Amino acid sequence: VRLLCIESTCDETAAAVVTDSLEVLGSVVASQNALHERFGGVVPEIASRAHVERILPVIDETLRQAGVTLADLDGVAVANQPGLVGSLLVGVCAAKALCVATGLPLIAINHLQAHIYACKIASGEEVFPCVGLIVSGGHSNLYRCDGPTDFTPLGGTIDDAAGEAFDKVGSLLGLPFPGGPAVSRAAANGDPKSIRFPRPLLDDNTRLAFSFSGLKTAVRYEIAGPGGDPATVELSEQRVADIAASFQEAVVECLVGKAEMALRQTGFNTLCVGGGVAANGRLREGLEASAARHGRRLYIPPMSLCTDNAVMGAIAIERFKEGKFESLEMDVYPGLQRIG
Ligand code: ATP
Ligand code: MG
Ligand code: FE
Repeated sequence: VRLLCIESTCDETAAAVVTDSLEVLGSVVASQNALHERFGGVVPEIASRAHVERILPVIDETLRQAGVTLADLDGVAVANQPGLVGSLLVGVCAAKALCVATGLPLIAINHLQAHIYACKIASGEEVFPCVGLIVSGGHSNLYRCDGPTDFTPLGGTIDDAAGEAFDKVGSLLGLPFPGGPAVSRAAANGDPKSIRFPRPLLDDNTRLAFSFSGLKTAVRYEIAGPGGDPATVELSEQRVADIAASFQEAVVECLVGKAEMALRQTGFNTLCVGGGVAANGRLREGLEASAARHGRRLYIPPMSLCTDNAVMGAIAIERFKEGKFESLEMDVYPGLQRIG
């Protein structure tokens, strides 16, 4: 079985050809970082338009890499939830058009389930059941994952996502976009204990919830004081490094603490992590230390499978095997309501 998987939920235009043994025959990711950089965040309408320009070249290049034509495929899979509505529509329309042209079946991908499935693809091991932690620019969620497509939400952020906080702190520190990688690079030369930022909700053992917007404000006050403008403050390289390291430490402690709580609550022994923030080295260290301490299994995919990509769309193989195909009426679901 060979599936073409398409991903366009946010600001990466991506396609991959995968097999039922989870072999990757071809994979292309066209990032839009350069387009959104000067706005300090993803601009939805710019993202949709860029997807329109890139989707066909990305699919063509993926098929070429894989050495296959449309006639060699057994299905077309596309992420139709959750994400930016305009972005989702581009991938879904492209997938439907290919299905109309070829008669191939259409398969839906839940983008968040795909992020966790990346752990199975990368490790080649059975990772379910597990607790799923998704930390990206748009999400900071914890799930009980009884199977690849059987997720129950346990909790998540009540305001900003972790990646969003990294991006905003990066911009407060005058670092390039996206802030996540830049903040973690700066943090490498800083002292994580130099500033004691708050760990919001970490001590609240009644809720599996995160809150990062207050932490972001604390960073702002640390730089410029209440009411001050961070853009007018000149920070030394060491000060940037210390703020970055201290902020990163606070985020990591919150994520590790709540992931541990979710593992205790479910009784599961395995944690699977997905999303761009999982590329963060300090977070990996924190999660590894916690897994070693409690004798638990931890799966974090390599960087290229943490940030948005279409290889993780191989989760569609599971639905293909069950014969779960969609009609050409299939809609997009921007919100989190349809996890199934
Ligand atoms: P979605 O939330 O819909 O999955 P997205 O494009 O925001 O979409 P990803 O591509 O998975 O999500 O991840 C991008 C996010 O990951 C950005 O916020 C980026 O700053 C963050 N990120 C990437 N590398 C690192 C890192 N080393 N440390 C911290 N954050 C990082
Ligand atoms: Mg992205
Ligand atoms: Fe994502």
